[in-house]
Amino acid sequence: MLYQSFLIKYAEIGTKGKNRYLFEDALMKQIRHALKEVEGDFAVTKEIGRIYVKADGEYDYEDVIEALKRVFGIAWICPMFQTSDRDFESVKRELVDYVRQVYPSQNMTFKVDSRRADKKYPLTSEEMNRNLGEAVLMAYPEMKVDVHHPQVMLHVEVRTVVNIYSLMIPGPGGMPVGTNGKAMLLLSGGIDSPVAGYMIAKRGVKIEAVYFHAPPYTSERAKQKVVDLAKLVSRYAGPIRLHVVNFTDIQLYIYEQCPHEELTIIMRRYMMRIAQMIGGETGCLALITGESIGQVASQTVQSLAATNEVCTMPVFRPVIGFDKQEIVDIAEKINTYDTSIQPYEDCCTIFVAKHPVTKPNVKVIRHSEEKLEEQIEKMVKTAVEERKEIMCR
Ligand code: ATP
Ligand code: MG
Repeated sequence: MLYQSFLIKYAEIGTKGKNRYLFEDALMKQIRHALKEVEGDFAVTKEIGRIYVKADGEYDYEDVIEALKRVFGIAWICPMFQTSDRDFESVKRELVDYVRQVYPSQNMTFKVDSRRADKKYPLTSEEMNRNLGEAVLMAYPEMKVDVHHPQVMLHVEVRTVVNIYSLMIPGPGGMPVGTNGKAMLLLSGGIDSPVAGYMIAKRGVKIEAVYFHAPPYTSERAKQKVVDLAKLVSRYAGPIRLHVVNFTDIQLYIYEQCPHEELTIIMRRYMMRIAQMIGGETGCLALITGESIGQVASQTVQSLAATNEVCTMPVFRPVIGFDKQEIVDIAEKINTYDTSIQPYEDCCTIFVAKHPVTKPNVKVIRHSEEKLEEQIEKMVKTAVEERKEIMCR
């Protein structure tokens, strides 16, 4: 195996000043977590401004890259060749050999970028660049030097060991999960909410999730689909605790007491209220939904305003301005799409009126909710208390 270790470059967390070490530590923790599912032994270490992953013995290269590509906070993954022999003649040989292995057809422009952390090394970095460049040209006459826009940048770093790298594989960007508080995702079995959770987790937010289940109107299979989606999102976001709330009694009660065309809005207001109660108990500071303006009747601006009225926590709606296709593209990228389109009924679709209100008036909705006064508080309390928790990882 040519590569024994990986240099991890991060972008945004580099700008966090005095708190930088917190971000680095969170990133290292997430890298270790991601590598747990890869066979092999890995050590994750940091040195001023950079993080290394070192493999001890055999490992699967593709699996490591796949795992690292899911760690938010990573900007670039650079597979490195390492040698402890710092003798310059041997560094030259290793570089030439590296080029041969990584670029089988050496038909490209290049530049050598040398650095020495050890200033006592016999050559300056300028001298190293020149000598190493010459050695590469001698070995591969079809290669050309381009100091301004090289196709390949050959990095050679002399530290306690010598690192050689040139490949830069893009990571997912974002910030390490756990560096930006926690939020409660309203996770349905659809396409949008898993994408919404992914997007907020990408900014470093830890995720809890809540699913409103309405047995027997929604099946166990529909619930399992939500668990599967939570697991898929957790590949990026880390372990997700899913709260499954039995919503049947509340839904039936609203159905009995309120005008049917308002059912969806009132139901959504109760979802928000309950999500917020559970969020409050579990240390969440915000809610996340997969709402997108105009997608369905309950997502007109008027409906969103009516739903939002009951929220005291901020509500993050990361796909609010996306077209369906844009959301689908992300769902495909993060591998939730195929699960999302499985045809299991969703609790909102069971009681949907033929002509739901698209421009609800908040005053009218509040008035309708008064008809629920007698029992709703108790029902909500029961639903929250009797929720089931499932750890999804
Ligand atoms: P999605 O594709 O995410 O299901 P949708 O297009 O079906 O979205 P709605 O059913 O109106 O849209 O739901 C809007 C948002 O409300 C969802 O993105 C989700 O965040 C939340 N939500 C809807 N139904 C549920 C549910 N049963 N449990 C938890 N959250 C839900
Ligand atoms: Mg839905």
